[in-house]
Amino acid sequence: MEKRSFDTLIIGAGGGGLRAALQLSQAEARVAVVSKVFPTRSHTVAAQGGVNAALANVLPDNWHWHMFDTVKGSDYLGDQDAIEYMCRAAPRAVYELEHFGVPFSRLETGKIYQRAFGGQSRDFGGEQAVRTCAAADRTGHAILHSLYQQNIHARTHFFDEYFAMELVQNQDGYFLGAVAMNIADGEPILIEAKTTILATGGVGQLFRTNTNALVNTGDGMAMALRAGIPLQDMEFFQFHPTGIAGKGMLITEGARGEGGYLLNGDGERFMERYAPNAKDLASRDVVSRAIATEVREGRGVGPNRDHVLLKLDHLGADIVKKRLPGIRDMVMTFLHTDPADTPIPVYPTAHYTMGGIPTDRHGQVVVPVQQGAEEPVPGLYAVGECACVSVHGANRLGGNSLLDILVFGRAAANHVIEQLKEQRYHQPIPGDAADVALERLARWNRQGKGESIAALRAQLTKAMEDHCGVFRNEDVLQEGQQAVLALRERLQDAYIDDHSQVFNTARIEAMELENLVDTALATVSSALARRESRGAHSRIDYPERDDQQWLKHSLFSLEDLKMDYKPVRMKPLTVDSFPPKKRTY
Ligand SMILES: Cc1cc2nc3c(=O)[nH]c(=O)nc-3n(C[C@H](O)[C@H](O)[C@H](O)COP(=O)(O)OP(=O)(O)OC[C@H]3O[C@@H](n4cnc5c(N)ncnc54)[C@H](O)[C@@H]3O)c2cc1C
Repeated sequence: MEKRSFDTLIIGAGGGGLRAALQLSQAEARVAVVSKVFPTRSHTVAAQGGVNAALANVLPDNWHWHMFDTVKGSDYLGDQDAIEYMCRAAPRAVYELEHFGVPFSRLETGKIYQRAFGGQSRDFGGEQAVRTCAAADRTGHAILHSLYQQNIHARTHFFDEYFAMELVQNQDGYFLGAVAMNIADGEPILIEAKTTILATGGVGQLFRTNTNALVNTGDGMAMALRAGIPLQDMEFFQFHPTGIAGKGMLITEGARGEGGYLLNGDGERFMERYAPNAKDLASRDVVSRAIATEVREGRGVGPNRDHVLLKLDHLGADIVKKRLPGIRDMVMTFLHTDPADTPIPVYPTAHYTMGGIPTDRHGQVVVPVQQGAEEPVPGLYAVGECACVSVHGANRLGGNSLLDILVFGRAAANHVIEQLKEQRYHQPIPGDAADVALERLARWNRQGKGESIAALRAQLTKAMEDHCGVFRNEDVLQEGQQAVLALRERLQDAYIDDHSQVFNTARIEAMELENLVDTALATVSSALARRESRGAHSRIDYPERDDQQWLKHSLFSLEDLKMDYKPVRMKPLTVDSFPPKKRTY
């Protein structure tokens, strides 16, 4: 098997991976970035509305208010040291992007354009803030392309269209790189590294209707799980309020930030009842539940009363064309209507993975060692949507994910740079280190007749949608867990279709399904275990938040489907903490 050696291996070329890579390459570390799709096709490219930073370009603002909103938005499950770090670092992260060449939209003053997003306030819960820095509604596209160009300039080494299969570690649990497959020829390669950073994005493909790219299959999370690292807070999956009904494509929160609002079948602005102050710009979990409730109670729109409407036509065609051009194109393509004239049918759709691989604020993967204490895993880091640092807690605020990937991509790289100074040589790789990955590859050489991968994947995503959606309860979650376990069993005997024209991509689909099944199990099991409602996790049978029992992070391990818990880091770095309060908007 081919073997290559680097100081750092980064698995994932989205915003998180590329921000880390740039920092490392600029510090003259030898960096390899592996991506299963060409880097600029990574999912970050789809981010629309913008990135949060308290620049105060439109209205007064500061990072303390941003921090308060993020803690409150997280339903007090976010770790306050990491949240403080992120909110303080936000303005610098955005100015850095400006210098990397991101073409932000501009205000008349020439400053970076900012728009209102959900859950943002001034003065600790007061009037709406305007904090989201945007490049029209194509902010992710602008960021990803700029970061890629900067990395090419900094001579980062890319393995484009390589699929990482398994992490490699030695007997002491030190992580030493990964085994990947070259998608073009199916050949495995061992990439040896002194440090490995997982930046593989989220797992939106768990659900049938979602806003995510097809490649978002939780590969990094599943690799970590299989390597014995528990996943944190997987029960918290964000459903975005405004996916195009029945299709799932995202209509950015920026559309409501520009003044759009929601209407039910009676023509009522129903958010006034659920969130009297913030209305349509309440936090995402609140708006999603409100829409689902309107539909459940028969006040939906359409022949089946199964969606609501997002109204933008009152904004005027100029604003829609200038500030939301991508949304307008998408709606015209998929619905054949112009949102400048006709309201858009919307319904909540699976969007963002709040949980993931547990890390500290330096991006180091951490595992519990004894009651309440945890230890870094040697050689392993995680950043971006695959990680749980945790700045989003039980519910992420819009605009905070692009910020998360930039701030913690950079922070992890800075930590790695320090580590590399002390570690001049590669540790020896055990002879059998690649065996698990090679066995997995061999398993999916098997072609023939049997249950097809595509059919099993469709059943998995339907089971998750039916059993682990916006509203949950014990019986339904239990059925969901059984369904996922049964599918996991059946996957053992599945085959790759004989007639597959593109064999290597079919093998990847099989391995992605293995990853999806493991992350589905983590999600549904963690949801079953948490008997309270908090943020995006809404239990009909336990409708209240219960800080006494449940103000803690969950940890799911594959072995015996074990659940464990650890405390929330309530203490910020320099300011007073925000103690839990009733959360209203
Ligand atoms: C439609 C949409 C709009 C959004 N808009 C916003 C917004 O306006 N503001 C905001 O803050 N957030 C937004 N988000 C969320 C945000 O875009 C993502 O959370 C963020 O971009 C994730 O970045 P990442 O670097 O963690 O992962 P990604 O960008 O998803 O990149 C993952 C990378 O990992 C690679 N990879 C995965 N598995 C493997 C493997 N096995 N082998 C090799 N490579 C692998 C992929 O090829 C890819 O390069 C939006 C999300 C969606 C879905």
